[in-house]
Amino acid sequence: MIILWYGRGEFFQMYQPTDKEVYDLVNALSIRYFHKPFLHQVKFNHRLRTTGGRYIPAKKTIELNPKYLEIEDEFIGIIKHELCHYHLHIEGKGYKHGDQDFKRLLRETNSPRYCKPLPLQQKCKYVYKCKACDQEFRRIRRVNTNKYRCGRCKGKIVLQQSY
Ligand SMILES: [Zn+2]
Ligand SMILES: [Zn+2]
Repeated sequence: MIILWYGRGEFFQMYQPTDKEVYDLVNALSIRYFHKPFLHQVKFNHRLRTTGGRYIPAKKTIELNPKYLEIEDEFIGIIKHELCHYHLHIEGKGYKHGDQDFKRLLRETNSPRYCKPLPLQQKCKYVYKCKACDQEFRRIRRVNTNKYRCGRCKGKIVLQQSY
């Protein structure tokens, strides 16, 4: 499980991120796109299948599907979508998919409309591989292999296949 994420001039590389690293990522996205901190819990739910994530109002908890962690665009989008549910809910506004408040906040933050993205295989056109440790990375877009390194061993990444 790897995420490579470019933001604020830094590369965030996570390999099997700890709870704290995932919390930090969600909080950073919350501050960047919603200008408010994320003050509750986020965790991985390994039983989620095609759902990228979900928000549980009763626990104020965001659950994320670790299968999407490899694909940073998708994963960031899922977190932003769940943060829309979260912020509206804790502020007592309409936080469900049909609510106007929810639709407006999705637009304002440029978040994806659905929790259920397409199957990963259909979306990822590029497969990269670490020359040192053979870890594979699937990506929707092209990656600058001079800039990105393997999140696991910092080895060089090469394009293996593109569809
Ligand atoms: Zn949703
Ligand atoms: Zn490697």
